[in-house]
Amino acid sequence: MALESGIQSRVLLKRLKQALAEEGEGQKRLDRLTHLIANSMDTEVCSVYLLVDNKTLELCATEGLDPASVHKTRLRIGEGLVGLVARDAKPINTDNAPSEVGFRFMPETREERYSSFLGVPIQRLGETLGVLVVQSRISRLFSDDEIYAIEVVAMVLAEMTELGAFVGGDENLKAPHQYSVLIRGGIAHEGAASGNVLLHEPRVVVTNPFAEDTIIEQKRLQDAIQRLKGDVDGMLNTALKGATEEHKKILEAYRMFANSKSWLKRMEEDIESGLSAEAAVEKEQSTVRARMSRVADAYLRDRLHDLDDLSNRLLRILTGQGNSDHTDFPESPILVARNIGPGELLEYGRNLKGIVLEEGSVGGHATIIARAMAIPLIINASAITTEALNGDHVLVDGDQGIVHLRPDDNVKNAFSEKIAMQSKKLERYQKLKDVPAVSKDGITINLMMNAGLMGDLPSLENSGAEGVGLFRTELQFLARNSIPKRGELAALYSRVLDAAGQKKVIFRTLDVGSDKVLPYMRPTDEPNPALGWRAIRLGLDKPGIMKMQLQAFFRAANLRNISIMFPMIAQFGEFIQARELLKTVLENERKMGHSIPKNVEIGAMLETPSLVFAPKQFFELADFISIGGNDLKQFFYAADRENERVRKRYDTLNVSFLNLIKQIVIRCEETSTPLSFCGEDAGKPLEAVCLLAMGIRTLSMRPASIGAVKALIRDINIIELRRVIDQALVSGEQSIRPKVESWIKAQI
Ligand code: PEP
Ligand code: MG
Repeated sequence: MALESGIQSRVLLKRLKQALAEEGEGQKRLDRLTHLIANSMDTEVCSVYLLVDNKTLELCATEGLDPASVHKTRLRIGEGLVGLVARDAKPINTDNAPSEVGFRFMPETREERYSSFLGVPIQRLGETLGVLVVQSRISRLFSDDEIYAIEVVAMVLAEMTELGAFVGGDENLKAPHQYSVLIRGGIAHEGAASGNVLLHEPRVVVTNPFAEDTIIEQKRLQDAIQRLKGDVDGMLNTALKGATEEHKKILEAYRMFANSKSWLKRMEEDIESGLSAEAAVEKEQSTVRARMSRVADAYLRDRLHDLDDLSNRLLRILTGQGNSDHTDFPESPILVARNIGPGELLEYGRNLKGIVLEEGSVGGHATIIARAMAIPLIINASAITTEALNGDHVLVDGDQGIVHLRPDDNVKNAFSEKIAMQSKKLERYQKLKDVPAVSKDGITINLMMNAGLMGDLPSLENSGAEGVGLFRTELQFLARNSIPKRGELAALYSRVLDAAGQKKVIFRTLDVGSDKVLPYMRPTDEPNPALGWRAIRLGLDKPGIMKMQLQAFFRAANLRNISIMFPMIAQFGEFIQARELLKTVLENERKMGHSIPKNVEIGAMLETPSLVFAPKQFFELADFISIGGNDLKQFFYAADRENERVRKRYDTLNVSFLNLIKQIVIRCEETSTPLSFCGEDAGKPLEAVCLLAMGIRTLSMRPASIGAVKALIRDINIIELRRVIDQALVSGEQSIRPKVESWIKAQI
């Protein structure tokens, strides 16, 4: 007895609305709804299964199945037809349920008597909250109109569940987003933090899913769409300037979606069926999100992301919610976002205690900034933005890559012990701040820090670093929408030198390209960006920015000494060319009457294996060399430093890599070229002491790591460690780590 789809769902929604408006606690409401849906759909059974934790569905109300099974029958996601609907976020419509693959017989519900089964996910913005099922004895397939009607009802149920409308009356029924969730992600910056969720894009809550008057709702949608189109046009007209053909196509596709007739038509139909404008947008958004998780093609997924993004904008226009102004921070804020740009992250600043991203990458801009600000960061934390609510308590375990959302007491206690231990260690390291890094056998090590922001400079004092071994200058370029001006850079570099006083600062010239794409730079669309047009290659081919930056360095130095190094030198000729460019700029500065530095030290970063085998003249010409271990490892093992899957396979303490380090030390010793190591491994105590044992005497690392590295240096005998390593190097084992670990355990 299928009514026409719009009418059927409109009648159903009207009844639902009345039923929801009636007094009563949550369970009674739910019972009334199942009765009403079964009645309207002319089926014997209607059941609602809701997620009670993030993997278990519970029968929470039923019309037709045995009432004694309510709150008793439970299924895992993926178990039985109901579990499959939840897992795949797709309806199942069958005229012979018991014959379906995956059917699970549940004797307590006595459901084997029902042949027809229609289950649809109760989902909100791609997050499955439960499953709505109707069943009937006669064997028949449900029509498209009936499926549509049930989907619309499920959408309303999702909204009401989200609002906690069914809570109360039974202890088992909790509102979503109340139970503890553990999410495993990737480690992007270590450290532990406890705090409260600060959503970068707060969720929009649809408080009224029903259309009071469909004509008014259609008008609201039309108006919002017009505003959206205007916003998108404005945004894209700026972005299209200077974009490549490929980039233009993508932007135009985005604009096309905003004008999509079929998208609009679907939403209009949803309103016709009785939903409010915002509920209609959200219903379509949920469908898109469900598709997004199933699409393997990256291009298509990106386009679905576009549509999702447009839906978000539309929801914000319609509800006026979700426009965060960065002022209303909870205490100890932990930022939760799908992804975030470097500029936006800098706006939040150092107030953040931690960051959790649903996407992100180890070498992404947000990661670079989070590291620079020493904020624990977890990336690839799946579904965190749908799970977390503003203000939720959250624990970030950046060492394990684990997020505990709304943790229970056991987890909280264990975590506070971890934080206490961390602060105890910090206290211990703090005491070492002013003592020298001298090993037990009397070798003095130079511990420097990496920096990239003005705000890092106070760490020079707090950490006891003896200087800045690597100042990454790209952060100023990445975090803005246009090239910084020479004067601004000179002023900043000058303040850096002022803050450092007598301590040395090594500035690295702009290292962009690959993953570090400047927002105002034309994307080059290279097949292998890490092996592409980046760093010094870009600097030499298009020397404009590099010349400007060199001038800024010289003007900042203003008669003081300055040290400058070039990134990613792969062959001697590149170093000669970069050095000559520097000399020319210096000479021009002198001729123009600007005060030039007293002395300029010119160094190279050794980040490609090829440079280890460069002519001796290279080592003679370089005033100093700094090993960029992050890139050197990436190129040595041919393993992308941003690709977790391959990155982890290769150990820094692998025999081959240490042999390479040994070779670099030998080559630098031959020419008495000062050598340092400034990759991430310099800040890991075990790796750091092995590098020292191989002959390196200067390490540059994150300021927060200096204490731990210094503590271990002071506990060991470096020459003895070298003997242990030398034996391990010829033992035939792949990594020297086990041998070194057990030796160190015996020392401390
Ligand atoms: C490195 O590659 O080790 C390095 C220090 O440079 P970056 O991490 O900025 O590429
Ligand atoms: Mg590098």
